[in-house]
Amino acid sequence: MPAHSRRNALLQAALAMNRVELNQGTSGNLSLRLEEDFLITPSALAYDQCRAADLVRLNMKGKVVGGTRKPSSEWRIHRDIYLHKREAGAILHAHPPWCTTLACLQRDIPPFHYMVAVAGGNSIACAPYALFGSRQLSDNVLAALDEKRCACLLAHHGMVCFAKGLTEVLALAIEVENLARVYVQALQVGKVPLLTTREMEAVTRQFEDYKNPECSGVGAEE
Ligand code: 13P
Ligand code: ZN
Repeated sequence: MPAHSRRNALLQAALAMNRVELNQGTSGNLSLRLEEDFLITPSALAYDQCRAADLVRLNMKGKVVGGTRKPSSEWRIHRDIYLHKREAGAILHAHPPWCTTLACLQRDIPPFHYMVAVAGGNSIACAPYALFGSRQLSDNVLAALDEKRCACLLAHHGMVCFAKGLTEVLALAIEVENLARVYVQALQVGKVPLLTTREMEAVTRQFEDYKNPECSGVGAEE
């Protein structure tokens, strides 16, 4: 894809974050992996005022290699995820209200619903608080994204997730926000029963089949 199309794709996905109410104002940031480096949203600029030329290209040392604006203050989280997770093609950080409600309570999202497994583990961890933009915050995020986890909450802040592309990362963020909302609602009624480790492992296995578009013939009962 030509460079200007990738800039447009990133900007369109950033605007979609606002449309689906994952984000507002200048909070949040979004990035897209390129061959050797990545494109990221600029710092402190609302997406509805952002042009494709305002997006910033950074190399894996965190040096600006394209664009004139200051990169997102959370560039280090994005850079560190790209360095440690080969499967990450796009990364989204936002302060969506339900995820942030749980994050402010320093609570993980436990296996209360089978869809928690879409985030790659049996729970969605809440990374300990650290100052926004700090190296410590990035270290805490990486620790919360252990093994195959691809989403986490950030205490007293918001959430982060990654996926192979922009469409997938938006869909994952919407799913995690929905899970957070349903979990908070369930907590309001009382103690929330959880699925077992064995049940969650079965979900993970079933997901592998679910994501495979090939029809194996199973399910054709007539
Ligand atoms: P930026 O505007 O620098 O991307 O920061 C927003 C944010 O959410 C910081 O955590
Ligand atoms: Zn933030």
